[in-house]
Amino acid sequence: MPANKPITIVGGGLAGLALGIGLRQRAVPVTVWEAGRYPRHRVCGEFISGKGQGTLRRLGLSELLAQAGAIPARTTAFFSPQKGSPVRELSEPAVSISRYALDGLMAEQFRQRGGELRENERWRGAEIAEGVVRASGRRAQPVVNGWRWFGVKAHARKVELAADLEMHLSPSGYLGISRLKDGEVNVCGLFRRRAGNAHGDFSNGEAREKSADGRERWQEIFRGAPGSKWHERLAGAEFDEDSFCSVAGLSLEPQRAAASEECCVGDTITMIAPVTGNGMSMAFESAEMAMEPLAEYSGGKISWGEAQRAIARRCDEAFARRLAWAAWLQRLMFMPRAQNALVLFAPRWLWLWKLLLEKTR
Ligand SMILES: Cc1cc2nc3c(=O)[nH]c(=O)nc-3n(C[C@H](O)[C@H](O)[C@H](O)COP(=O)(O)OP(=O)(O)OC[C@H]3O[C@@H](n4cnc5c(N)ncnc54)[C@H](O)[C@@H]3O)c2cc1C
Repeated sequence: MPANKPITIVGGGLAGLALGIGLRQRAVPVTVWEAGRYPRHRVCGEFISGKGQGTLRRLGLSELLAQAGAIPARTTAFFSPQKGSPVRELSEPAVSISRYALDGLMAEQFRQRGGELRENERWRGAEIAEGVVRASGRRAQPVVNGWRWFGVKAHARKVELAADLEMHLSPSGYLGISRLKDGEVNVCGLFRRRAGNAHGDFSNGEAREKSADGRERWQEIFRGAPGSKWHERLAGAEFDEDSFCSVAGLSLEPQRAAASEECCVGDTITMIAPVTGNGMSMAFESAEMAMEPLAEYSGGKISWGEAQRAIARRCDEAFARRLAWAAWLQRLMFMPRAQNALVLFAPRWLWLWKLLLEKTR
């Protein structure tokens, strides 16, 4: 029997590690290259919602996640600067877990299952090469349609929430606050500002870049506009300074996997609007959809081109509709008049609430 051909995965985020673990379950030799180190904080709402939870179960990770502090999230509430929605149940519970714990756990599991993890090593080889899968995360784009998009996150204590996840909308962005274990919460926001405007006023619609001290600036952003529910929620928050992180150059324009010449999984294919809480799920799902084709390639049953096309086809079929709905929802979230309507009607009208949940995951 000829030996299985090896697979190289560029990027040890959730998509790369899930794929690596799944390939090890199929006895495929795998190396993951990760430019950073574990454990580490990542900009993320830390709210896993959607079919990717099934992938975690099939990879044998759900129990381990629970041991590492994952907790179920069952309820959400939405707030605009003027309005608040009732607390609404999710149709399927989501999972809340710190990325610090999650990424570290998955890296450890990949190693334990015989994968080679080249931590703190950046892949500099060709990415369009046989046997190489790109899981290197979002493709940075500084300006999209005249806007710069950025994300910030930090953990905090002393925050009382009405629901497991609260979403707070403002003209400049939205903020998710979700319960984590032991009384901690994750505070994570997506914001935009006009390209070229470095001194906008954040409280009424534009990101402020006044302070020379980045950390102070993020704390200021997190506090929100005085008088809003968002401001009230975080007024007494004690932030964990070490968990602060930020990311810029985000693009939320849906892309198709088949349009790329590379074999891709996760955010490298495309990002989904964070409000859906479905990005991690898509990372897990796309990894799972890549497992069989890559195992067949590794075993010599199909060519690299066939494997790559099968993965892209599966991902596009699974994601096209939800990406379109998420892009539409994302646009609504940034229209000040639509925000109030969204907060008032989406959670109150059960049919609309169910429709939005179903179509975006
Ligand atoms: C503001 C915000 C909030 C979000 N909230 C949520 C949420 O609540 N729920 C949810 O499900 N999703 C959320 N997401 C999305 C979610 O975080 C991502 O979809 C998910 O992390 C994608 O995983 P990934 O593995 O594809 O990419 P990443 O996690 O970005 O991993 C890519 C990895 O590749 C490494 N890398 C890159 N280039 C190289 C190289 N050349 N060599 C070696 N390594 C390399 C990087 O260091 C990185 O670790 C949010 C995103 C944002 C921006």
